[in-house]
Amino acid sequence: MDDALLQKFQCLRCGKCCMWEGPVRVNEEEIEKIALFLNIPLKEFIEEHTVLAPDRKSLSLKETPDGACVYYDREAHACILQSVKPAQCKAFPFTWNFPGWENECEGGKALKGK
Ligand code: SF4
Repeated sequence: MDDALLQKFQCLRCGKCCMWEGPVRVNEEEIEKIALFLNIPLKEFIEEHTVLAPDRKSLSLKETPDGACVYYDREAHACILQSVKPAQCKAFPFTWNFPGWENECEGGKALKGK
């Protein structure tokens, strides 16, 4: 998909990126904000709600057994962490995406024909 078309992307909150398996990386500042938002002591949040990313370069949020982010509310179609959402989540699909994302993501599908 070319850049000009990608700039027209609008999230339709389908949650496909949140349910796609793979690490949701969080940095120190994000971890602090999320722990505060969830009212969980920082040490406890790190120990119980994050894991080391596969490349061991950062921590990432825990996943459900099917690889989805645990903070995606499937019934509400919303991120529980919306106000403290990690930068990686905001960056989809601009700086990262996955093969065939435009056929999975509702916002990507909507771009077809534009
Ligand atoms: S933190 Fe929120 S936006 Fe990011 S993957 Fe999880 S549910 Fe999706």
